[in-house]
Formats: sequence, structure tokens, C-alpha cells
Amino acid sequence: MRIPTIVANWKMNTNLADALILAESIKNGTEDLENIEIVLCPPFVWLYPMAEKLEKILGKKIKLGAQNAFWENEGAYTGEISPKMLKNLCEYVIVGHSERRNHLKETDEMINEKVHAVLRSGLKPVVCVGEYKMMREEKKGRGRPDKIAMSSNILNQLKASLERVSKNMISNVVIAYEPIWAIGTGHAATGSYAAQIINSIREKIYKMYDWDTATDIRILYGGSVNAENISEFVRQPEIDGVLAGGASLKAKEFVKMCQEMA
Ligand code: PEP
Repeated sequence: MRIPTIVANWKMNTNLADALILAESIKNGTEDLENIEIVLCPPFVWLYPMAEKLEKILGKKIKLGAQNAFWENEGAYTGEISPKMLKNLCEYVIVGHSERRNHLKETDEMINEKVHAVLRSGLKPVVCVGEYKMMREEKKGRGRPDKIAMSSNILNQLKASLERVSKNMISNVVIAYEPIWAIGTGHAATGSYAAQIINSIREKIYKMYDWDTATDIRILYGGSVNAENISEFVRQPEIDGVLAGGASLKAKEFVKMCQEMA
């Protein structure tokens, strides 16, 4: 069974006090919810104090995730953080976020190395894929590119990111479909468009692995999801949850999103 999952990507936001309050508020607001997984991804430096101070909060429902990890476990890599260092602090690691692909020029090959390193450390990568451009740039409002052919770009990213990941390991991978034109723009994809792309991602997983793998893997949608529009995504049977940026920094809004998803 694919457990509905909501990933909160706090990006380079919050101070430690805010991060702890946010996590406490999310915990309090979601106490009654069952059978969902909430993954909080604070900046690296808050992971340790959060793991320590929130020990009682963290567990079956609320988990911690990192926003990135390097592909080696140690060595002369100034400024990098390895999966081995994250191992006892969190359960998930976002890999291949478009902001890293864009600002830090991460390639599919680098992302593939990271996916392997994260899996080797017993952590679960949330692998982000998504197309850069809408086909019709002039379109205003909700994103809805009119050519699904664009999905080949996404599927190539997917294949490259999962290169050499074995059938045994793939069950620890979560995929996030995040169209770049929808991230932080306020122009979310429509639920049906996201479901179509996610369906083609699932088909690709079927071709790369097998039917059971394709049926079991969690595939999330991310890009300007908020409390208003989340139901449009989570009511699609293909979509197993969401990855949220901006909206995940507002406790009330994020709790509402968890409630909608549950
Ligand atoms: C993201 O950070 O991946 C994201 C989807 O951000 P936002 O929800 O702000 O668009």
C-alpha cells in the first residue's frame, strides 16, 4: 500500500526557534490523523537539534528529511554533507531538486550518484524530476502545458537519476514530479495534468522494473501546492501526496494540507 506522504521543504528558511515551533505546531495539529507520513526537511543545521529536541514527536507519522546530500561519505569535499553524517538524524533526503539543478548545476549523473549514496546509507531519497518550460509560455494562471509530449524530458531525467538502482533498492525511493514552472510561482499544475504525467512516470517505472514495483512506488506532485488546491492533487488516485515549499512554512496552512491529504 502506498502511504499518502507530504514532504515539507523548508529550503533556506527558518531560524532554530521557528523551526522547533513549526514542528511542534504541525505535530499538535495532526495528532488525530492516521495513515499518513509527514516529512519535515529543515535546513541541514537544524537537523541535529530537531532530531534531539523533537525525539518524542518523531516516529511513525512525522519524520525528518534533509534537503540534499553529497555522493561520497567522507573526504576533501569542502562544505558538503554526506549521507553517512545524516544517517542517524533523518530518514529521507531530497535529491535533484530543481533549485540545485539550476543554481548549482547539478546534473542527472550527479543526482544518480547521490541517489546511490543515500540508498547505501539506508536513507530514502526523494528524487525530484520535472520539465523546465511550459510549452505555451504566454499562458497565464494555472499551469497546464498543452503537450504531454514534454513528458519525455521528465522520463529521461527519471531514467538517468535511477540508473543502476536495483529492484531491491527501488522500494526505498520516493519520486516527486515537480514541474519547474510551477515551483514557487503560484501557478500550480492542474490535478489532471499532474496525474497524467505521474501516470507516465509509473509506466516508465513498470518498464524499468516490473508491475509490483510500479504499483508500490510513491510518486508525489510538487509546485505551488497549498491548502486551497491540495485536494485537487490528492484526490487523484495516481498521486500519492505532495512536496510543498512555501506553504509548508505556515503551520496552520500546512496542517490543513495534512488534514486534506488524510
Ligand atoms: C519545492 O520546493 O519543491 C516546491 C514545490 O515549492 P513551492 O511549493 O513553494 O512551489
